[in-house]
Amino acid sequence: MLKGSGVGENMEAKQKSSFTVEQFRQFYAEEIRALTGASDELVAAFARVPRERFLGTAPWYVAPTASLFTTAYRPVQDPRDLYHDVLVAIKRAQFLNNGQPTLLARLINALDLHPGKRVLHVGCGTGYFTAVMAEVVRASGSVLAVEIERDLATKAAANLSTYVCVKVLHLDGADLVAGRKGLGQLDAVLVNASVTHPHPAWLQSLNPGGVMVLPLAVARNPSAGDAIAIRIERQGNQFAAQPLCLLSLYASPSLRDEALLEQLNRGFMTHSILRIKSVRVDEHEQDDSCLAHSAGFCVSKLPVGAIDEHAQMASTQVPHPQQRAAQSPSQ
Ligand SMILES: [Zn+2]
Repeated sequence: MLKGSGVGENMEAKQKSSFTVEQFRQFYAEEIRALTGASDELVAAFARVPRERFLGTAPWYVAPTASLFTTAYRPVQDPRDLYHDVLVAIKRAQFLNNGQPTLLARLINALDLHPGKRVLHVGCGTGYFTAVMAEVVRASGSVLAVEIERDLATKAAANLSTYVCVKVLHLDGADLVAGRKGLGQLDAVLVNASVTHPHPAWLQSLNPGGVMVLPLAVARNPSAGDAIAIRIERQGNQFAAQPLCLLSLYASPSLRDEALLEQLNRGFMTHSILRIKSVRVDEHEQDDSCLAHSAGFCVSKLPVGAIDEHAQMASTQVPHPQQRAAQSPSQ
């Protein structure tokens, strides 16, 4: 190895380091606390879950930032190299990664998880962040994790087999249904894919006070998963919403309505999307308060207190945007 060539020096330094993997993991969790303001429970969860167990055998391929333009991975052999704010490849050719820990920490922290909470994780990958959430909700809570890619779902199920509160299903999150035979009641939903709208069942299943973190797609290009993550909180039968952050991630193939996407993209380009105060599922005519409007889902700048008192939560009669499209050949 040439002197000053980087990787070799780092490995040599680490071999001399007396810090254990567990200590690296503790420092990593504390860094997440400092950078995201994560709760004590969430920081403790990051300090407990061994990231390497969810990522197969070494070498692992890491990338420094969550950018679609970052395709240069660096191979690492030492699990201590995984305890930084880095992406880790799950499928290098598709740039499918175990996400940036500080980003996911911000999204999970927005869910206000505590022991006993019931969580839906849509797009669980190989299960690392599912495990982090399971550590927070404990055995008295539950995490239902779904993954659209069969091989990833299989790995996630194996990786999470020691968590009695976790169930992994291989399916598209859009195929979930509400009600006792489906999702049941939920306190939190984390969606790990960009979508133009949530599945109605996800909102219907939220308990009062329940929270969903939803990445709304804003990129016209289907191959780009650029999105703005919003936090949705159920208040009675209405849904308060606020913007959280921008991110890039896998684009859902099914929860994508082209007319909504056009409006979301326009809202993103003009920054009007940042004025979001609620999402509406009640029937109403499109007006100036609608930032992106469809019959089944509307991104609105009206706070929930200003929405018609009689607006009711979407029932099964309210059409899903894609159902509406299917029922109306002219659209
Ligand atoms: Zn509207």
